[in-house]
Amino acid sequence: MNKRKFMVMGIVGVIVSIAILYQLREYVAVYNRVEQVDVSPQPMMAAPSPILVGKTIVIDAGHGGKDAGAIGQSGINEKDLTLQTALNIKQELETRTGAKVILTRKEDDFLSLAERADLSNEQKADLFISLHCDAFEEGSVGGITSYYYRHEDYEVAQTIHSLLYQDFLQTRDRGVLYGDFQVLRDNEAPSVLLELGYISNVEDENRIQSHLFQTHAAKSITDGIITFLLKDK
Ligand SMILES: [Zn+2]
Repeated sequence: MNKRKFMVMGIVGVIVSIAILYQLREYVAVYNRVEQVDVSPQPMMAAPSPILVGKTIVIDAGHGGKDAGAIGQSGINEKDLTLQTALNIKQELETRTGAKVILTRKEDDFLSLAERADLSNEQKADLFISLHCDAFEEGSVGGITSYYYRHEDYEVAQTIHSLLYQDFLQTRDRGVLYGDFQVLRDNEAPSVLLELGYISNVEDENRIQSHLFQTHAAKSITDGIITFLLKDK
């Protein structure tokens, strides 16, 4: 092979190598694009299921404003815990059922007991749920209690209460009891009042604030509402 031929071969070799590398780069780019598509998050959440469209549910965050409610050992106020739980239930209910969900308060506002029941009556609610936390001078007392006022509301209180305890809950089951509370007594809608635990009890106080319990409570209370409102369908 003469020198000239050798140089031509060399140049051709270099050109072929560049062409191969260029092609290879294209393949890698395409592969990466495919990879990117595969790992991208799923677009948009599913639309709400319309199972409770047309139903109105009033969620009442106990206390608020100048009325802090009970105060926990860590200094947390009952009014803040009830509001957080109410907001979580509202989100869960709207996402899963399409129901109209009205909160008696969306912020740290004061409302009388009569105003809470009046709102439920004005809105012709299909169900009213009031959220509270207990407190007791004895720190060892703990657990969840669900209250009803009218005999016919026992069933919905029982349904929600048992769903709260369906998954393992490390707190005492204090049962479903009759309670002469004004928000229940003055209410025309089926009504329940939930005492989600004792904030005077350190374990209960931590449990109620935990993301795990808040998620669980929103889910099981929503399950209870769906079960109750669809029972005659
Ligand atoms: Zn309370």
